[in-house]
Amino acid sequence: MRTAPTILHLDMDAFYASVEQASKPSLRGKAVIVGGLGPRGVVATASYEARVFGVHSAMPMAQARRLAPNAAYLVPRFEVYRAISEQVMGLLRALSPLVEPLSLDEAFVDLEAEGAAWDAESARLTGTKLRSDIRAVTGLTGSVGLAASKMLAKIASEEAKPDGLLLIEPGTERALLGPKSVRILPGVGPATGDHLRRAGITTVEEIVEAGEDELVRLVGKAHGHGLYAMALAHDDRSVVAERDTKSVSVEDTYDVDIHDRVRVRTEVQRLADRCVRRLRGARLSGRTIVLKVRRYDFSTLTRSETLRGPTDDPAVVRETAARLLEAVDTTGGVRLLGVGVSGLADYTQEDLFAQAAGETHLDDEDTLEEPAREAAAPAERRWPAGHDVCHTEFGHGWVQGSGLGRVTVRFETPDSAPGRVRTFRTDDPALQPADPLPLIPAGPEQSEVTAVGRKASPGSQGTVAAKE
Ligand SMILES: [Mg+2]
Repeated sequence: MRTAPTILHLDMDAFYASVEQASKPSLRGKAVIVGGLGPRGVVATASYEARVFGVHSAMPMAQARRLAPNAAYLVPRFEVYRAISEQVMGLLRALSPLVEPLSLDEAFVDLEAEGAAWDAESARLTGTKLRSDIRAVTGLTGSVGLAASKMLAKIASEEAKPDGLLLIEPGTERALLGPKSVRILPGVGPATGDHLRRAGITTVEEIVEAGEDELVRLVGKAHGHGLYAMALAHDDRSVVAERDTKSVSVEDTYDVDIHDRVRVRTEVQRLADRCVRRLRGARLSGRTIVLKVRRYDFSTLTRSETLRGPTDDPAVVRETAARLLEAVDTTGGVRLLGVGVSGLADYTQEDLFAQAAGETHLDDEDTLEEPAREAAAPAERRWPAGHDVCHTEFGHGWVQGSGLGRVTVRFETPDSAPGRVRTFRTDDPALQPADPLPLIPAGPEQSEVTAVGRKASPGSQGTVAAKE
């Protein structure tokens, strides 16, 4: 393991909800919940104001509504989240060619790869500057963890939340981990956590005390060795600029959409087992578990989670796939499900350079593959809560709610004061869906680019531009 805390983990704070608050002035400082709004939808992100009421990600939406009845409930606007994610990942890639995205709002960066940092002081300065750059470019806050390993860097960013930075000095890792719950370790989900608790192990220190042999006896060989190593804060994984080149996956299309959530879960478990059989047949194992869901309206989501190490353990693949499913709204029905394992091969230099050249792989995807939704979609889906609209007279706004032939719109923009609410008929021709507005006007960034361009050319305007 390296001796300097030069692995950085960035995690944007309550990402989807924060984007919505930045877009919608009337929601700032308020409880905001983004997710599937149908009867069986789940929470994707809750703002910190909503978390006070006990609402958290992957919670059933119905339960969230009981806990926080007055919160704003919004449907995700993935195209906006993806665009902002690109800006953030761009800032990370400016620090190092070794950037490993885990999802739209989370990534590891190896700061030593090109000398962005080499010791605790330079790492802290780089992390601090990154946080202020992210705020300047996106208007949002992200938390940064810095440590000598990926596991500790991720734990550090979690501890730093919200809007913070935590650096774990090498040598202090075990003292920090010891008293914490076993659940803090990557890969220890509810099932493993329960299993360990029944054996009397609740803290990381108790894993160390139990010893490696006991761990292997409790959770199996593959998981046991890894778990023991993590409890000792041993983590040698390097940051890999990952390209999703190789994977093993299986999927099923259903003649009739599946509506029953229990049946969806069962199908995912079945697919996970089939995928592992295929994986083992090819004598492979992989680090990233991928879940694919195509919904009744042909929108297709893929969700993935990257594990600490490669696995071909059916229990691990099942547990991970089930966890990924919990964050997916299957309200309205599912017509295709798939489970895959990727990250199978060793990463070559070639891969890293391709990544450095700007090719990114993000874990979160939400694409509308078919444009056929207009005709088939039920009326209320034409005005999803939180989505952008434009009115010929009142300008840009967002849908606050709709039903019974009416749609309520709040007219405001990211840089306006909180706006007024007006109600229209859902078929009012003056009201149209609109493209989202940028959170930060493009102005300052563009003028900076212009200034650099002018400075580079030895023209007479050079000195003028440099002063701007
Ligand atoms: Mg986050």
